[in-house]
Parts: sequence; C-alpha cells; structure tokens
Amino acid sequence: MLSYQHIYHAGNLADVHKHALLCAMLDYMTRKEKPLTYIETHAGRGLYDLASPEAVKTGEAAQGVEVLEARLPEDHPYRRRLREERALFGPQSYPGSPLFAAGFLRDGDVMHLAELHPQEHRALAKVMEPWGAHLRAEDGFRAALALAPPTPRRGLMLIDPSFEVKADYAAIPKHMAAIARKWNVGTIALWYPLLTSGLHRPMIEELRRQFPDALCHEVRFPPAREGHGLVGSGMFIVNPPWGTEDEAARLTALFKGLSA
Ligand code: SAM
Repeated sequence: MLSYQHIYHAGNLADVHKHALLCAMLDYMTRKEKPLTYIETHAGRGLYDLASPEAVKTGEAAQGVEVLEARLPEDHPYRRRLREERALFGPQSYPGSPLFAAGFLRDGDVMHLAELHPQEHRALAKVMEPWGAHLRAEDGFRAALALAPPTPRRGLMLIDPSFEVKADYAAIPKHMAAIARKWNVGTIALWYPLLTSGLHRPMIEELRRQFPDALCHEVRFPPAREGHGLVGSGMFIVNPPWGTEDEAARLTALFKGLSA
C-alpha cells in the first residue's frame, strides 16, 4: 500500500536541487537538434498547488523554492520554467519534474512516465497527456527496463523513488546496472535522500563502485522540522551531459548560502 504523496514536499529544498539540475541538463541536451527520449520512473502528479492544505501543513516550499528561487540567475532554466507554468496555472502552482521537463522537449522528442499510485496517476494523466506523454501505471523500474534502450536512443531518465520501501536502497544499484547495460548511452539520474540514519550510504557506495565515472552531487540543509531525518539531497548521474558539473558547483554554493 503506497502512502507517500509528494504534495506535502513539493517545492522543498530537495526539489529545488533535483529540479534545478534536471532543467540545466535538459536545457543543454535540447540545444542539439538530435531528438531525445525523456523517461521518468516515479513521476508523481505533475503539478502541485502550494496553497493546498497539505503543502501549507508542512511549510516545506516556504523553506525551499520561496527562499532559493530569487538567488538563482533570472535566466536559469529552472526559473524560466517556473515563470512559464505560473503564467498558466497561477502564482501558487509548482510544476512536478515531468512538467519541468516537458517545456524543454521539441517535436520529435518522446516522453514516457511511470506512476504507480492510482490517484497520482490520474492527476498526472490530466496534466501530461496534452503534452503527448506516454503514461504507464506500473512499477517504474519494470517500465524502465522494458523501455531501455528507447527510441530515440539519446536521452535522459530520472529515477525519483519515494523510498517508502526500505528494500529499494539495496535494489536500486541492481536496477540501475540492468538499465545501463541495455542503454549505455543514456543519461540516468537518481535522486536520493541524505538521511541522519545513514541508510542511503551503502547504496551510494555500491553505485560508485558500479559507475566510477558518474557524477555524485550532494547538498546539505537543515531538517524541515526538529527531529526530521532528511538533512540533504543527492543526485547520482550516469553519463552526465556537458556542463552538469558547473551547474552542480553553482548549487553547492547556493545551498551553502542557506546557512549564511
Ligand atoms: N518526480 C516527482 C517530482 O519531482 O515532481 C516526484 C515523485 S515522488 C518523490 C515519488 C512517486 O513515486 C510518488 O508519486 C509515488 O506514488 C510513486 N511511486 C511509488 N512507488 C512506485 C513504483 N514502484 N513505481 C512507480 N511509481 C511509484
């Protein structure tokens, strides 16, 4: 039984880290004319209302996008996408990763999205079908393996699990190895939490062993509430596009500024 709902966390510090890197990578990848495939294994609902009772209850967006957005350059691809979607859905709206991504895609690019939770999947379909996205109501890793290698072969896959199932930490390196074996040219980006418990660490050690050339970028931040175990955000990127390291360095400085 899935209980995680991203609406409680939309626009938080981890989302800013993940979405800013995602937008920077897609901005770069779509400068080349060659078409690409964008895949998400855990897509969420695509669009969030930061004025909803769930988002207001945690106040995480108030500590995240509402603080950091203005500290990024005005023309940053993440800020550009925020402006575009707010113009359509209002100032309190916050795009999910599929909607951030959709704005970069061109005719000829292909988007596949997996989301298992029925309620989230219904909401996702409403937001993303007008963009021509192909939706799957199935396990994201199963979808990823079935799709790899996609057509077009060039592309990016975002893996953004909720980590509700603790067995995911051990299973993810195996899933990523299997996906990369089938799709060795794909950019594969995994988001993961930095936890006070250290539960994420063996997974990252194993991923570093499997993918020694990958980019592993982590930012730290204060917990959203006292005693909350999430104290940072990580992105593990296999085959990062050119320029991703520079963007990561910019985000390191941005998050360091949080404690200044
Ligand atoms: N990527 C989204 C974003 O940044 O806007 C947020 C995704 S949220 C962290 C994780 C999502 O995965 C949830 O919506 C949850 O319902 C979904 N989920 C959980 N287990 C899944 C599975 N096995 N396969 C696909 N989706 C799953």
